[in-house]
Amino acid sequence: MPDVLVASRNPKKLEEMRRILVDHLDAVRVVGLDDVAPFDEPVEDQPTFEGNALLKARAGVAATGLPTIADDSGLCVDALNGMPGVLSARWSGRPKSDERNNQLLLDQLLDVPDDRRTAHFVCAVALVLPDGTERVVEGRMDGRVVREVRGSGGFGYDVVFEADDRPGVTTAELSVADKDAISHRGKALRQVAPIVADLLG
Ligand code: IMP
Repeated sequence: MPDVLVASRNPKKLEEMRRILVDHLDAVRVVGLDDVAPFDEPVEDQPTFEGNALLKARAGVAATGLPTIADDSGLCVDALNGMPGVLSARWSGRPKSDERNNQLLLDQLLDVPDDRRTAHFVCAVALVLPDGTERVVEGRMDGRVVREVRGSGGFGYDVVFEADDRPGVTTAELSVADKDAISHRGKALRQVAPIVADLLG
C-alpha cells in the first residue's frame, strides 16, 4: 500500500484532511509530518493559495521522496478587498493566535453593515509526486462574517463565519461531518482523492 504524506503541522487541519482523504482513499496510507524525519519547512511567502500549497508539497517530496499533499487556505473578506487571504493565519501578528485574529477581524468590520459582511474561505490542495507530476485543485465556501464569536468546534475563523449553506449557525457550531460536507477543504480534498488514487495506481 503506497504512503502519501500530508504536509501540515496544524493538528486540527491535519485531522480534517486525514478524515476526508481516508474516506475516499482506501488504497493508500496517509502519513503526517510527525511520521517522517524532520526537515526544513518552507516559508509560505507566495501571493496565492495555489503557490503556497505547491511550495509545501514540493518541499515534502524533496525531503521524503513520498508523494505529498499540502494545502493552503484562508478567509477572503469582501469588505477588506479579499484580505486576510493568504495572510489569514497570522493576521494579527506573531505568535499566531486564532483568538486575536478573530477579535481583530470583528473590530475591523465593526461599522460594516450586515449586507456587506460577505466572505469566503478558499483551500488550494497541491499533490506533487516524486516524478515531478503536479496537480492543484481549489475549493471554496461562501458565507459571511458574523458580529460575535459563537461555537466551539473547528478552528481559526470558524467561530465568526456563517456559511451560506448553513445560515444561522457558525461553522464552529457544525458537526465535523457537516463542516466536511460544505467546506472549502472538503471540496478540494474530494477533488484530489480520485486524482491520487488514479496517479498512484
Ligand atoms: P495555512 O495553515 O497557512 O493554510 O493557514 C490557514 C489559516 O486560514 C488558518 O490558520 C485559519 O486562520 C484560516 N482557515 C483556513 N481554513 C479554515 C477553516 O476551515 N476554518 C477556519 N479558519 C480557517
